[in-house]
Amino acid sequence: MKVLVLVDHDRGTLDELTLQAFTAARSLGTIEAAILGDYESLAPTVAEYGAATAHVITHPLLVDYGSEAWADALVQAMLISGAQAIVAPGTDRGNEVLAHVGALLNAPMVANCVEITAADGDWSMIRTRWGGSLLEETTLTADRKLVTITPHAVVAEPAPAAGTVQRIEVDLDDSVARTIVADRVQAESGLTLQTAPVVVAGGRGVGSPENFAALDELAGLIGGAVGCSRVVTNNGWRPHSDQVGQTGNRVAPDLYIACGISGAIQHWVGMMGSKRVLAINTDREAPMVTKADYAVIGDVNEIIPAVIAALKAR
Ligand SMILES: Cc1cc2nc3c(=O)[nH]c(=O)nc-3n(C[C@H](O)[C@H](O)[C@H](O)COP(=O)(O)OP(=O)(O)OC[C@H]3O[C@@H](n4cnc5c(N)ncnc54)[C@H](O)[C@@H]3O)c2cc1C
Repeated sequence: MKVLVLVDHDRGTLDELTLQAFTAARSLGTIEAAILGDYESLAPTVAEYGAATAHVITHPLLVDYGSEAWADALVQAMLISGAQAIVAPGTDRGNEVLAHVGALLNAPMVANCVEITAADGDWSMIRTRWGGSLLEETTLTADRKLVTITPHAVVAEPAPAAGTVQRIEVDLDDSVARTIVADRVQAESGLTLQTAPVVVAGGRGVGSPENFAALDELAGLIGGAVGCSRVVTNNGWRPHSDQVGQTGNRVAPDLYIACGISGAIQHWVGMMGSKRVLAINTDREAPMVTKADYAVIGDVNEIIPAVIAALKAR
């Protein structure tokens, strides 16, 4: 079976979760990459992770991301390449585009798979549901298979392949340009929640938007990024782009410092891939504390400044 793997990228900057999707897809058949937009520079990387062919799919509407344009172009690439399946990373773009592809092809889409096994044309899969609190075993029998991979369920491993570049020029109607990127805001620092080795995350227990200054300072000192819980974004203390959890970012840093966060399942699923968790909380029975590798019981607004002072003294 020929499997197209959607390369998630932002104007040619690869989303690393794509490499996990390549790794997960390799046992399912011959792997080919679908690069939307004229970004041939991505071809060597996807070849390194198993793409026998890298399809560079071009059209003026594909210079930047657009869910409908990407989906329409991907369907055309699927038909031209003869692929029977598309695997995408379970990123916002990956899930959105594959949902559109499912609608265009009238085919089922299975989101958030953690394991897939191919047998006799069907795929048996385990996928996460209910925000990660349930693992479902399911079988996909559709002729055209559309699947996304849960972030951090698979460790990306290289497996070099030819990566022969094939260019496909698609035909897109202007009507697919309904959703476009109209503006871009430059991130203030190079570290993002997705790439930072340490995430310092704050919850309701931090108490106020002003108190987040200490978390920002600590993150700056230890090379981390600041995240938060949904209560914090609901209160308007931090932007939604900082939120970790089921309806926010999924992160997997080396260390996750949860400051005044109770550890509700909807938060936990966003950071459960972290290698180590340190909880700072006044309640020793809080789920975040009982599940953490390390815990400090106390007021976060006393502990974080003390840690900052100790770091500065060093
Ligand atoms: C469909 C759905 C989706 C959701 N998606 C998300 C999501 O993506 N992300 C998310 O985070 N939540 C999400 N939620 C909300 C989630 O259920 C919780 O309500 C939320 O995570 C709780 O945030 P919190 O831990 O900051 O607040 P709380 O649950 O109120 O916990 C505050 C914690 O701070 C501690 N504390 C208080 N004062 C201090 C202090 N001075 N020092 C130290 N500790 C202190 C308390 O002991 C407590 O453990 C979702 C909910 C639903 C229903």
